[in-house]
Amino acid sequence: MSFTILLNGAKGRMGQAISAAAHEMNITVGAACDAGDKPAASIAACDAVVDFSSHSATRAILELAVAHGKPIVIGTTGHPAEEKKALLRLAAQVPCVWAGNFSVGVNLLFALTRRATAVLGDDYDAEVVEMHHRFKKDAPSGTAQRLLDIILEERKLSEESLRHGRKGITGERKSSEVGIHALRGGDVVGDHTVIFAALGERIELVHKASDRSIFARGALRAAQWAVGRKAGVYDMQDVLGLR
Ligand code: NAD
Repeated sequence: MSFTILLNGAKGRMGQAISAAAHEMNITVGAACDAGDKPAASIAACDAVVDFSSHSATRAILELAVAHGKPIVIGTTGHPAEEKKALLRLAAQVPCVWAGNFSVGVNLLFALTRRATAVLGDDYDAEVVEMHHRFKKDAPSGTAQRLLDIILEERKLSEESLRHGRKGITGERKSSEVGIHALRGGDVVGDHTVIFAALGERIELVHKASDRSIFARGALRAAQWAVGRKAGVYDMQDVLGLR
């Protein structure tokens, strides 16, 4: 039996990549919705909802998925912290896979970053550098934010420790600082580097995405995985069995 999705943000870069991947994976895009469309008209006929749109569009599509009891995959990034908390509470009412990055390689990078942070400890200064194409609207990327959260969690630090770029007389770096630097330019699909630097050595964990199809295939795999699950918020670590 064919698997059918409602795709929100269908005209965007990711929307188009998901439509192409769906074709390859024998998945039907039953409703391709973008700004101004009325997804309510077609949600009933779909098995799951996939949202790669804009942070301001997530609430409406999530409310619709909850109202119809449909599983939802959320790949959209850039939600303000308070809004994201409220959306997560709502998302927990249906099976929801929410991930800042749906690639297998990046999910392994998350696991390696957690391990490296735990093993290396406070002597190693942690900095995250990300680069994306010139059209990206939010910074830092959702993936960089997740990498930072992992470092903060492992080191038991708060968001106050984050340094978004540096300028002027900043003084010597404190060991509790975690730096984040967002580069933008050209057509870069998504590069992330986690640096651990000590006196005498440096470790860099690097992931480079060269094709959006990795996110698209991951998101569709997540949509199939979500069907029939207990209501709750999952991420790609759950889908890939990396926990
Ligand atoms: P994009 O700007 O190319 O596309 C976004 C699309 O959403 C556009 O077609 C836009 O018209 C549409 N949209 C805007 N408002 C809408 C609304 N109210 N209802 C329906 N559609 C609406 O962006 P993109 O590069 O395709 O990325 C989309 C989102 O996915 C971004 O938040 C991006 O950061 C995120 N992203 C996530 C991953 C991941 O793996 N989680 C990977 C890549 C991109």
